[in-house]
Amino acid sequence: MGEEIFRALFNAAPDPMLLVDGSGKIVLTNIRAEQIFGYSKNELKGQTVELLIPSRYATMHTGHRNDYIKKPVIREMGARRELLAQRKDGSEFYVEISLSPVAVDGSTHIAAAIRDVSEKIKLNQQVNRSITEIERKNSELEQFAYVASHDLREPLRTIRSFVDLLMQDYSESFDETGIQSMRFIIDATDRMKDLIRELLDYGRIGQNSVPEEVDCNETLFIVREDLEENITSSKSTINAGKLPVLMGYKTELRLLFQNLISNAIKFSRKGVSPVIDIKAEKIDDYWQFEFRDNGIGIPEEHQADIFQIFKRLHPRNEFEGTGIGLAHCLKIVELHEGKIWVESEPDVGSTFMFTINSHR
Ligand code: ADP
Repeated sequence: MGEEIFRALFNAAPDPMLLVDGSGKIVLTNIRAEQIFGYSKNELKGQTVELLIPSRYATMHTGHRNDYIKKPVIREMGARRELLAQRKDGSEFYVEISLSPVAVDGSTHIAAAIRDVSEKIKLNQQVNRSITEIERKNSELEQFAYVASHDLREPLRTIRSFVDLLMQDYSESFDETGIQSMRFIIDATDRMKDLIRELLDYGRIGQNSVPEEVDCNETLFIVREDLEENITSSKSTINAGKLPVLMGYKTELRLLFQNLISNAIKFSRKGVSPVIDIKAEKIDDYWQFEFRDNGIGIPEEHQADIFQIFKRLHPRNEFEGTGIGLAHCLKIVELHEGKIWVESEPDVGSTFMFTINSHR
């Protein structure tokens, strides 16, 4: 009776299953196993399991099997590695196998459940190919942006120096409108110079640096020094908790802090002195940072797209800027295998949050 139930269960299993004795010989197979490998029950019975493995792996497998039987435990095979099995017709397919020791008539046997994972592996390979292709296109695009912005600098410099020359030597021949037009050209070239500089910086993020130990308290200290004038003139208060020491890209993290703090100061409400609260906490494998301000806030519908390059929500005469700052932040956070997002309420304030992988 016991054996019948065992057989019935074995045959009802949706996956191919084998029962193998201590010397690696197949004792029992279920119908799925016979179907998938293309052998009859009798062809399988009494053979070693190496019959079902491509011959180039068979010797190695015999070794593994002999080791396993000495200390049999429940084990997954192939979850981390790609394992191949072989059908009667010689064709091969990828499998995952779970092994469990079973006592049969007082001796240890091994029950093996086999799963055909060829489709899954094919899909993974396709995804990996797509990722490689996207990475290649992305780096081409970055290279293009770098070269283009680099080459744009030269004609811009020429325009700027000739406008300066005109202003110096000919400004007397210009009327009011002429002078104003020259000012517009100067402003526009300056803005373009800033844009190009920031685009070049964007392309350089993480290019020439390696991760090192970064004390974020020190990073904040330096950024506060760099922004001192801005902080004082805007009457800003920065409160910071204890920040971590982590492995990261020092210059990039400084730029990240600097962008978030200067935005918090810039996008403040009229008549409300900026207060910025900074803290960090460890959540699972990540450090999560929070930069909270009491500024103008960001409407919900724009909270995701402000991280796009050149995205700005206000005209230049309201708030100066190029729209690159947060794109920089996103790229820096991604360099640290993290995420960045914002929670915000208009006229109350914004909290920018980002994570940094702590296992680097
Ligand atoms: P920029 O500051 O040069 O405009 P950013 O990429 O740094 O560009 O920011 C994009 C937009 O996101 C800003 O134009 C602004 O509308 C919004 N923003 C960024 N930081 C804040 C903040 N702390 N509070 C409110 N709005 C912000």
